[in-house]
Amino acid sequence: VALVSLGCPKNQVDSELILGRLREAGCEIVADPDAADTLVVNTCSFIDRARAESVEALLDAVAWKSGGEDRRVVAAGCLVQRHGDELSAELPELDDLVGLDEISGVATRLARLPASAPSGAAARLPAAGAPRGAATGLFDHAAPRLRLSPPFSAYVKIAEGCDQNCAFCAIPTFRGRARSRPLDDLAAELTGLAREGVVEANLIAQDSTGYGRDLGLRDGLAELVRTVEALPEAPPWVRVHYLYPGRIGRRLLEALAGAARIVPYVDLPLQHAHPDVLRRMGRPGSPEAYLRQLEQLDRALGGAPGRRSGFIVGFPGETDDEFATLCDFVEEAGFDAAGVFAYSHEEGTRALHLDDDVTPEVKEERKVVLEEIVAAVAEERARRRLGEELDVLVEGPAEDVPGAATGRWAGQAPEVDGRVLVESGAHLSAGAMVRVQVTATGPFELSGRVARLERAMP
Ligand code: SF4
Repeated sequence: VALVSLGCPKNQVDSELILGRLREAGCEIVADPDAADTLVVNTCSFIDRARAESVEALLDAVAWKSGGEDRRVVAAGCLVQRHGDELSAELPELDDLVGLDEISGVATRLARLPASAPSGAAARLPAAGAPRGAATGLFDHAAPRLRLSPPFSAYVKIAEGCDQNCAFCAIPTFRGRARSRPLDDLAAELTGLAREGVVEANLIAQDSTGYGRDLGLRDGLAELVRTVEALPEAPPWVRVHYLYPGRIGRRLLEALAGAARIVPYVDLPLQHAHPDVLRRMGRPGSPEAYLRQLEQLDRALGGAPGRRSGFIVGFPGETDDEFATLCDFVEEAGFDAAGVFAYSHEEGTRALHLDDDVTPEVKEERKVVLEEIVAAVAEERARRRLGEELDVLVEGPAEDVPGAATGRWAGQAPEVDGRVLVESGAHLSAGAMVRVQVTATGPFELSGRVARLERAMP
């Protein structure tokens, strides 16, 4: 079996769970589809662009199927959860469809398929093409898993689903209501990762600050931070992703302030800053409130953490003035990295009923303008780190800079943020931790030389 994993890290964890189940059932997992007889495509359904990419990957998989004998294609993930019925009608070549709640049974389903499945086989498996609605399932640390990240790094999904009601977002309609994994389950997973030599654990969810509410915890994320701190064994770097503004209370700030394992990193997707746009988006906040929260997080995390956010431009009704407020805010707040997205109407969302009145040209223009601001403020923030010494997790040789290694300091998350170039570091092994003195900077990049080796890869 080969698997193509699309979408976000939350989907990557699902891919890892699918592969874990298949390996447990005796399947051989290969990277090259041409060495496989079954290709699983784990799809994304976040926005139209992601859906188009997923459909393209499915069409490629169907073409792959027709290029050999006894080949099977399985679609999995968010697109199946959301549009499984349409998919099976439009793509009868699919041999099975596996929704979010069907992952644990993926191996059994595969075993029930004939080796060479005729077109339309999916329709004969129970629930393959049926509408699925919102997911309700949750896995635990005992679920078999084949990690796709490098050996030194892992994603830990602390919760599934989301209870927020952002007007532009359809995720709760198919990922379902928030379901948190119990503290002891997460503790067991983190301990296991540390024993496997994982240096960096990235805690992810749709809304991490909502962690534990469904379990009756009042300050769930604060509890989780304290649990992580109290573990006898845990990865030395634990990074918390996807905080929700307005939900960062005193107890969370106190827990973060005393936490040695939680890295100095703030991931706060804000989406906008103008209060009227935020109100239309169904989100709380204002520039002043956000600046205050960022300052509080800085203080809790000890000075100048890496800072990431995400913004949507061209939301229905966004005026030039409202957009200008967003730009001013980003300039004033400063981020080391931020994703900028042009708004598009999404089925199943409240914003669908608003007039999508910002033209595509204006959306694109605003996206470019805001991206330029993000790069300029990121460069300015990087410059302030000149001369600093930072612990850097080495990822491997830098392909574009001969002799150098590429890595990340704790304020940079894998895949989405910038990098640290380690001069003359190509010999360093992936997973090593080195102390680097920063000697040069760019918008999303720091570079420097090794001051000392902190920890070799185990
Ligand atoms: S917090 Fe808002 S944007 Fe994020 S997943 Fe939940 S509803 Fe969607």
